[in-house]
Amino acid sequence: MGKQCAICGAEVNLVGQQKLADGNVICRKVCQKKGMKKYFDFIHADLAQVQDHIKQVENGTKIFNDIFVPRMKAKKKDRPKQYGTGIFVLEDQGLMALAIASYKFFIFGKYYPQACVFRLGDLRDYKPTKPDKKPDGTKADPSKKYIHFSFQNTMGLCDFDYEYSGDAKKLAKEFDTIFGIQKTLGNMKNTWKSQIDATKAVVGAAKAAASGDESATEEKGLEAANALDVAIYGDRTELNRRAAIALEKYNL
Ligand SMILES: [Zn+2]
Repeated sequence: MGKQCAICGAEVNLVGQQKLADGNVICRKVCQKKGMKKYFDFIHADLAQVQDHIKQVENGTKIFNDIFVPRMKAKKKDRPKQYGTGIFVLEDQGLMALAIASYKFFIFGKYYPQACVFRLGDLRDYKPTKPDKKPDGTKADPSKKYIHFSFQNTMGLCDFDYEYSGDAKKLAKEFDTIFGIQKTLGNMKNTWKSQIDATKAVVGAAKAAASGDESATEEKGLEAANALDVAIYGDRTELNRRAAIALEKYNL
């Protein structure tokens, strides 16, 4: 007796089903393939998260093919920066992507059947990692190197380990530079200034809290949190502005 796929309704047997964290099952044949199985953890996701991820890939693939792919044929300085086979960065659009190339119809060249596009400003982590397991629960290969990417304010796939044999330090440095958090001497002034701003904002929040004025406390608290954020993660305002323009027409 089979179960039904919670997305398409098809009847699925034990082999053909992927069980989700909330007890729902989806079919491996059609619905799971709409997601990026290599990166998205279906085992620990519930149905709503899976649906968010499928929507993300549907939108991301379109955006990637609209915005990133044409730039790959541009002059070298205008091409997306690429890390390994699947991470692409377009700083002038405030976007980055995880995309899987396919050579199936090689006469047309490479094409990208699946991609997730992220706002660069949402990127929080890009450190090397050593995962024990792959998203499907099988053991990860300890001889391979990975980068952990995580994004805030992102539905669907927002936290994943990316196999990367390149120089992780160089990769981190390039992202640090994009975010203005490069800690070289030339940049110290900026870093220092945002740390002072953060300290001032925290003091302001503490004063507001002491005064007992609730709305002022909330406002000052938010200010302090933002200033701290800038001190740690760099100022993402300009990147967010660019991403908002690039994604405007997609109605996400
Ligand atoms: Zn299905």
